[in-house]
Amino acid sequence: MRYTTQFLLSAMAPEQFPAPSVPEIAFLGRSNVGKSSLLNALAGEKAAKVSSTPGRTRAINFFALLDESERRRLVFADLPGYGYAKISKSISAEWPKFIEPYLAEREVLGLCVCLVDSNIPPQPRDKQLVEWLQHAEREYVVVATKADRLSGNERTRNMAALKKGLETDAIVPVSAKTGAGIKELWARIEAVRAES
Ligand code: GDP
Repeated sequence: MRYTTQFLLSAMAPEQFPAPSVPEIAFLGRSNVGKSSLLNALAGEKAAKVSSTPGRTRAINFFALLDESERRRLVFADLPGYGYAKISKSISAEWPKFIEPYLAEREVLGLCVCLVDSNIPPQPRDKQLVEWLQHAEREYVVVATKADRLSGNERTRNMAALKKGLETDAIVPVSAKTGAGIKELWARIEAVRAES
């Protein structure tokens, strides 16, 4: 399906979240992982621009995806990037207090897209997030970004390392630069919409 993207709002607290409607897809990852670039590839420049606007990087930015008859079909929730300098005991220790309630309680949340960099070994913070989602029984997919920087062999090796390190088989290599993997990711997102 072809969608147009409409910015809804930036939320800094649970009471600001939009009224739950259609299935929501959340995007999570460390700063600089390539989240804006991926959003740009999936939902267009508008989404990427809003999400990287200073002041909005600490908020959850919500976007509606509208079909050709302007009907809302999906909502994308872009969550603040978590920092990579500090390793805290729990993600929630550093993350604003509204992120965890969002992930734990948001009833329309259908899929969490967890971005990791395919060029670097599995990171403790990413592992914490995946574990948290597994424990919370949230649907998730790990997306390994910037896959265009890797040769075929490196990609195979790094994917295996990520699967092992993050203890999950649900990993899709993508490149916002070449478009590789974007179709697969869309198929996963569409499946969530179709199931609802
Ligand atoms: P964010 O902080 O997670 O939103 O990350 P950005 O989307 O701003 O990207 C961070 C850096 O990684 C930028 O320099 C991008 O150009 C680069 N980058 C993002 N996606 C890709 C990709 O698919 N391939 C390559 N080669 N570089 C990328």
